[in-house]
Amino acid sequence: MKKTKCRCEFCGKEMGGRIQGIQKHIKNNHKIEAEKIPNLYMYSAKILYPITNTIMSKIVKKYKTGESINKLSSIFNLPYNVVKNILDYCNVEIRNTSSAAKQEIVRERYKKTVNERYGVENVSQASEIQNKKRETFKRNYGVDNIFKTEGFYNNWWNKMSEKEKEEICRKKTAGLGCKSTLEKKIQIALNTIGVEYTSQFYLKKKRYDFKIGNIIIETNGDYWHASPKKYKKDDIIKYPNNVFKKASDVWKKDIKKKRLAEKNGYTVVYIWEDELNKMTEQETIEWTLKTLKSNQ
Ligand SMILES: [Zn+2]
Repeated sequence: MKKTKCRCEFCGKEMGGRIQGIQKHIKNNHKIEAEKIPNLYMYSAKILYPITNTIMSKIVKKYKTGESINKLSSIFNLPYNVVKNILDYCNVEIRNTSSAAKQEIVRERYKKTVNERYGVENVSQASEIQNKKRETFKRNYGVDNIFKTEGFYNNWWNKMSEKEKEEICRKKTAGLGCKSTLEKKIQIALNTIGVEYTSQFYLKKKRYDFKIGNIIIETNGDYWHASPKKYKKDDIIKYPNNVFKKASDVWKKDIKKKRLAEKNGYTVVYIWEDELNKMTEQETIEWTLKTLKSNQ
């Protein structure tokens, strides 16, 4: 509980119920004592609010696990500025508010996107709608549903033989689906974040998936790019139209492509099919944000 009034410990005068008032009183009337107080704000706050060491360490702990100052302010029933000063007093680095705000905006946009698409706030709420769509997509295109769940994808796509996958990729629409399912996930993330980007960016006849400033994001299908997690270097992979390639040759080609981009001043970041498929839409957005931030 906050005190509405208090008395000065030096002169016994009433100092009111505001932190600033106490600070002012001490500074103006007790200069010598004020110099001995290491943090006048905290000294004043502690007079008005029940701030114990236990409470301070709880605040620090919770803040470090990601709780916001606003949330802590309501949990501990302390003003925003008091919480902020406690963190500062305990030498905790305050998270950049603009990046925190940006995360908040992204979450809001994400909610809006999902809401517009499904009329629900959360993708998982849309599972019934998904089930129906899933069946249709499976029948018509195979892979072309960006909202499919991890379970669905793994059970259906991963259980298919390379030959069956190939068969699907051969069909024109599905062929696009195969490649673009991954791209679409990133594209949705980029759209949600609202950053400017070029998709299908060309550099000397080489096609890159996304260019955002000087960052290039490549979405790598496990089969098309011979994921090192799934293929050994000497494995021969059969591609459509009777093309056979050694896994290590596929890798070499990708390295060459990466070098070309780097020579032209770009940073290339890869996201593999298996990683991307484990991510929810929101996680994809967060991955994209993190990637853009750390490569700026
Ligand atoms: Zn006084």
